[in-house]
Amino acid sequence: MQSFLFDNGERCLPQVGNTASSSSELELLAEKAKECQNCTLAETRLNVVFGEGNPFAGVAIIGEAPGAEENASGRPFVGRSGQLLDTILKAAGFSRQEVYICNIVKCRPPGNRNPLKDEIKSCRPWLLKQLQIVKPKVILILGKVAANTIFENRLALGAMRGKMTIWNEFECFITFHPAAVLRNPHLKKEWLEDIQLMTGHYETVGCKKNARENEN
Ligand code: SF4
Repeated sequence: MQSFLFDNGERCLPQVGNTASSSSELELLAEKAKECQNCTLAETRLNVVFGEGNPFAGVAIIGEAPGAEENASGRPFVGRSGQLLDTILKAAGFSRQEVYICNIVKCRPPGNRNPLKDEIKSCRPWLLKQLQIVKPKVILILGKVAANTIFENRLALGAMRGKMTIWNEFECFITFHPAAVLRNPHLKKEWLEDIQLMTGHYETVGCKKNARENEN
């Protein structure tokens, strides 16, 4: 089976139904996105934060928008939120290199405000194309803004958590954004429960098992 080797030497295996071309397709798409001027966020960004991770990932994680550290580095979920996300993923049995991480909007909204409707609409094709290439088995959506955007609703987070929801044939689970957990540490328990719900489903559909068997 075709394998994919990261810079750090970690070997990841493509999911069934995906191809080695995912890696180069994502790289090409990221190069195109760097030049994007489709909304006014292009005027104030330092970097387009396209997304990163395993191009063959079974799990995609989608957040809201880059913050200051992401804008400066060009990478999603760095800084304290990123560290917390890495910790909770590890607790659920995933490494960061195993998943694919991106946001619904690729450039930082000034002052960390919520992205506006026209910015979300302008950026949506990049997200859809990313997901078409990676073809994750499961998507974990972080936070109310990302979930409301993806599902085009105005529901409270509490009404969307704790269950699987189908979107564009993707099986999605919704939980808190790590920034919310940093602000309210008492959310950690529910956060871990949400992620374990996603992990349990992922293992039930056989993805994790397949990946581990392929590694042996
Ligand atoms: S936020 Fe999205 S649509 Fe707007 S400039 Fe950045 S990449 Fe383009």
